[in-house]
This record gives sequence, C-alpha cells and structure tokens, in this order.
Amino acid sequence: MTAKTRKLTVFIVITVLLIAAGTVFIVRQANMRHSREEEAEEMAAEPEAPAPQTEEEQDAPDIDYLILVDKNHMLPDDWEEKISLVSTVNSVGDEVWTEETAYDAYLKLKDNLAQEGIYVELDSAYRSVADQQKIIDDFTEKYGEAYAHTYASEPGTSEHHTGLALDLYLIVDGNTVYENEDLVQYPEIWARIHEKLPDYGFILRYPEGNSSGYPYEPWHIRYVGIEAAKEMTENGLTLEEYLN
Ligand SMILES: [Zn+2]
Repeated sequence: MTAKTRKLTVFIVITVLLIAAGTVFIVRQANMRHSREEEAEEMAAEPEAPAPQTEEEQDAPDIDYLILVDKNHMLPDDWEEKISLVSTVNSVGDEVWTEETAYDAYLKLKDNLAQEGIYVELDSAYRSVADQQKIIDDFTEKYGEAYAHTYASEPGTSEHHTGLALDLYLIVDGNTVYENEDLVQYPEIWARIHEKLPDYGFILRYPEGNSSGYPYEPWHIRYVGIEAAKEMTENGLTLEEYLN
C-alpha cells in the first residue's frame, strides 16, 4: 500500500465513521421527538380522571325520587333492577319491602312519632305487579269491584311498584288499627303524622280534595326527598302539580 492509498483509506474510513455516527444521532433525535409526540398525544387522549366521589355519593342509589307512576304513567322497565330494597317484618308479622332510602327516612319518622306517643307501622310499601293484582282480587272479595278499582291501582300503574310509597297503620292504646275503614276514624292522629312528613322527605300523596283522581288516603305517604317534600307541602302542591 502506498502512502497515498493509506491516506485515502484513512480518509474513507473516517468519513464512513462520521456518516454512521451522524445517522445514529439523527435517528436517535427523531426517535426521541417521536416518543415525546406520542407521549403528548397519549396524554391528550387519556380521559380526565373522574373527581373522587364522596362516601355519600357512592352510596346514593341512582334513581329518581320524583318519579311519577300513576294511571297515565307506567313504571319504567328498568326501575326494579335499579332499586335496592330492604325487608322488615311489621307488628302483625307481615314481611314488608321498601326502597332503602325511603325506609331509612321512615324509621326516623317512626322514632320521632313514638316520642310523642304516636305509633305507626308499615302495612305495605314495595309491591310487584303480581302483588298488585292480588290486592285487586282481595279488595274485590272484601269490598266489591267498585271499591277495589277505586282504592287499588291497576297492575303496572301503582306507585307502590316504586318502593317509595308507604302505607301506614296505627297502634292506638295498644290496639292494632289496620283496616282502611278503621284507620279513617283517627283524623287527629293522622293530622299530627302529616305535619311531620316533609321533615323526613315524605308527602301525603293523596290529600283531601286532591286532583290526582285518587280518593283521600291518610295512610299513603310517598318519599320524594326532604327538599322537594318541603317545597310541595309549603305550596300545597301534589306531586303531579309540582312536576308540571
Ligand atoms: Zn298506598
């Protein structure tokens, strides 16, 4: 190898090395930029983490406490799978199911009334469509068809399907007052019960002279939440009027 060729070889080798190093540098820079871009894209695409829920929010069932179920408003199909029901046994040994928030409110109302010597029990709260048919049949047998269709709703249209409507009965001087015709004999006791309802989130659903098409039922109360109950009661509105 001549000195000239050796010089040329060294030159070529150095040039090749420089080109190789330069390429590696450019590729690395490009990769870095690419990964930074990717990172930025990923960050942008990542959905914002939901705000942490309070314990109350996590526990609160996702249902509409102002739901309207009546002759013209059938129970929504998904209602029964959404509600949480609690079971209890009343003073006459019947098992009663109630939506859990409404039941908690009922227990507080019951305790408060007991402090004043008024004793209420749960006759009935949640009823399935089949249960409602049974009520119609029982009422028809006991009181006749006209009465049954006035005082009991047609299956699918009863507010009791929501689990938020509660029928109360009374214990007066240690005696169970259970039948509708006996319950109406105690207007003073009902008046004192009705007075307390809004403080616990309940309304008297069918007050005297109401426009809902149902007769006066002193025993039938409905859970709507404290705020709405107070607003309806203060303004003398039924649930239908409030929603309109
Ligand atoms: Zn009722």
